[in-house]
Amino acid sequence: AARSSGEAVREYLPTMGQIFLRRFQLVTQFRQALETGQVKVHYQPKVALPSRQVLGVEALVRWRHPEFGKLDPDEFVPAVEAAGLVDALTGFVMDQSLQRVRKWLDRGLRISAAVNLSVRSLDDASFPERVAEALTRHGVPPELLTLELTESGVMADPQRALPVLRALHALGVVLAVDDFGTGYSSLAYLRQLPVDEVKIDKSFVLGMGTDLGDHAVVRSIVELGHSLGLTVVAEGVEDDLARDQLNAMGCDVAQGYLISRPLSESRLEAWLQARTT
Ligand code: C2E
Ligand code: CA
Ligand code: CA
Ligand code: CA
Repeated sequence: AARSSGEAVREYLPTMGQIFLRRFQLVTQFRQALETGQVKVHYQPKVALPSRQVLGVEALVRWRHPEFGKLDPDEFVPAVEAAGLVDALTGFVMDQSLQRVRKWLDRGLRISAAVNLSVRSLDDASFPERVAEALTRHGVPPELLTLELTESGVMADPQRALPVLRALHALGVVLAVDDFGTGYSSLAYLRQLPVDEVKIDKSFVLGMGTDLGDHAVVRSIVELGHSLGLTVVAEGVEDDLARDQLNAMGCDVAQGYLISRPLSESRLEAWLQARTT
């Protein structure tokens, strides 16, 4: 039932004030948080289906804030983006990730890293150069770096995103469309974009075991992806049933709690050690 606006405002104002204050604090403290080690990269493994071979990891940022505690990216990345600070975040995550990939290469392991991009990076004509510079600086071949862009971000204005996407693709890095299925993509556009991989949004993968509609969406994305020559990745794989169904559909790569949660650097090393021995 509709409430009087006076009542709504009385309850709402303090909360809005708190949210704005917190956002303001997060944004003003972000650079220092990067420099002082409060911001860390966690890594979630991606495995091949059906072999379960570890192909790569996705870098997922975490902030251990002295006052607010552990913050998930959904709580601060949008504020960081809105404040124009996302370059610092992307640079940090890319450096950390490429450092890991290089260390693995030195041990004879070919494991790629996937970094999440903000759609704002696609407006920045100098972004591909910075990616190339980072790859050179860390001595990592481009095919071991995946850049993930959300479907909504790319499809909002594909023509605008295209020049930077093309330049990134020309470097030889792997381009992935994240959260696929949640937007309103024209399939024709997906064909025109220089992408290599689609990641099926976890909402469909989580629902697949109980919802015929979700199951059908996942199956059709796998088929569509393959018909366009793309690698198809499923995220949100939480149980054996989902993995077995994805396997039966021919999905290429699985990521999710069944395989592993996102892990700190040291816990990832222990996880890899246990898998490879
Ligand atoms: P995303 O790119 O879609 O990342 C996948 C999210 O699903 C992660 O949440 C991951 O922890 C979670 N997840 C993984 N496996 C499972 C599972 O089996 N079940 C369920 N229920 N969830 C699973 P997280 O780490 O909280 O990240 C949230 C979002 O924040 C990411 O969504 C991404 O869009 C953004 N993000 C994370 N790191 C960065 C970053 O370095 N830069 C930018 N621009 N965005 C980032
Ligand atoms: Ca992602
Ligand atoms: Ca996703
Ligand atoms: Ca997401």
